[in-house]
Parts: sequence; structure tokens; C-alpha cells
Amino acid sequence: MKRDRKIETASNSASPYKGGITIKSAQELEAMRHAGAVVASVIKLLKQSVEPGITTRELDYLANKEILSHGAKATFKGYRGFPATICTSVNEEIVHGIPGKRVLKEGDIIKLDVGATIDGFIGDAAVSLPVGSVAPEALGLLEATRLSLEAGIQAAQVGSRIGDVSAAVQAYSEAHGYSVVREFVGHGVGRFLHEDPQVPNYGPAGRGPLLRPGMCIAIEPMLNVGDWHTRILDDQWTVVTADGSLSAHFEHTIAIKEGGPEVLTAHE
Ligand code: MG
Repeated sequence: MKRDRKIETASNSASPYKGGITIKSAQELEAMRHAGAVVASVIKLLKQSVEPGITTRELDYLANKEILSHGAKATFKGYRGFPATICTSVNEEIVHGIPGKRVLKEGDIIKLDVGATIDGFIGDAAVSLPVGSVAPEALGLLEATRLSLEAGIQAAQVGSRIGDVSAAVQAYSEAHGYSVVREFVGHGVGRFLHEDPQVPNYGPAGRGPLLRPGMCIAIEPMLNVGDWHTRILDDQWTVVTADGSLSAHFEHTIAIKEGGPEVLTAHE
């Protein structure tokens, strides 16, 4: 989850986030790894569970059970009033869909966004999955979105800038004929779900904050088959493509390190 606006402090924290980019110590990185591993295990479970006939609420239930089994907490639940454990967004829904009675059917694509908190630190990741057999157009979108995230991760090197990540995602996406959502962006992550800096999926290279060892960011490209504009449904959460075209979303939490980025939420 992310919102393209200034971060709010978490109301339940003893030490509210004051803004600014946080650099994690070795010990804090270990906690980030732990949180990332919990998220990865939830995503693995959900990958096995997505099939025609399951409801998004059932997926939410499975995710919550898995998070609790690790002694972790569902980060999104209650965040700005979000009512569920995970976000489930189907087809033209981009992000922030609320799990409910919707039954997944053959040919749908579903986006699952998962956050888990353990020992005070947060992991955040998302995948887009085909439901049964899907159209080639949908498969192409899923693959391009996954690879645009890879391009962004590879650009996240010590000494590079946030703009280099943004430009890498945008270049890959547009070269493959997809548009990149502007109104929602990636973010720093740590003790708080949304820390500085914002990590847009578009924009010029060479700009923005310098990437330094110990920074943790969530990179999360959202690609549309049609235009990049979005709108929000009446539930005040679900973000959809304005033109009704298909959308996909992939996300990893990564740590910036000498020698290259470490993917904290790896689930492959
Ligand atoms: Mg996120």
C-alpha cells in the first residue's frame, strides 16, 4: 500500500516517525529480514491458494492466519482505517482493493499486497497472479510488471539515486508498451509502513535522494495496458484504471547494501 502524499505517523507508536530517511543498523536489518520472510511465506501460501472459486475474503483469512502463526501482526489492518489483512485487487483494480465476497473466476488476474510487522519492523510486498488460465494479453502484462520491478531493484545500488530506480522502472515498462501509474508510488519502509523517501515509478534518472547502505525501500511498479490515469471507487480505497484497462502490481521490500540490493521479501 502506498499513497502519494506525505506520510502520517502511526498512532500506535511510542516514538512517532518524524520524517526523513532512516538508516537501519545491522540489528535492525536483521529484524527487517525477519519481517520480509513472514511476508514471503504469506505470499507463497497465497500463490498456492489462488484458483477459480475462492473468494478474496478467504485469501484474506489465510493470510491473517499465516501472519499470526509467525507471531507477527498484519500491518495494513487498521492502517488509516483499512479493514482487512491484505489488499486484493482484481483485473482493472490496481491497488488497495478490500477483500470480500468476490469470487475469483478463470481468466481474472489478482493483485495481492501483504504487510507484516514483527519486532517493530515491517515487510511489504505484492504479487499479481493469474487465476486459472488467462489471456495472453494478461500474461504479458504480468511478466512485464514483474520484470520492471527487477529493473528497478537492479538500479538500486549504493551511490545511485531514487530517480535511477524510477527511470529504470519507467524505461522497462514503456519499452514494452505499458503505462506506469503516477498517482501511487513506492516508499521507504522500516518501523513505519511509509517512510521517506517516496519511490516513484517514473521520472528522470540522476535525481532524488542518494541511496546509502542501510536504507530500506519498497519498490512497487503498477503497470496498465491502457492509460496511466486512475480513479478511486466509492469504497474510498479501491484504485482502478480510469479507462477500465487491465493493471498489474509487483512489490518487494529491499535493503540497499554495498555489493548490491538485498531483496528482503523474496518468495521465488
Ligand atoms: Mg508498499
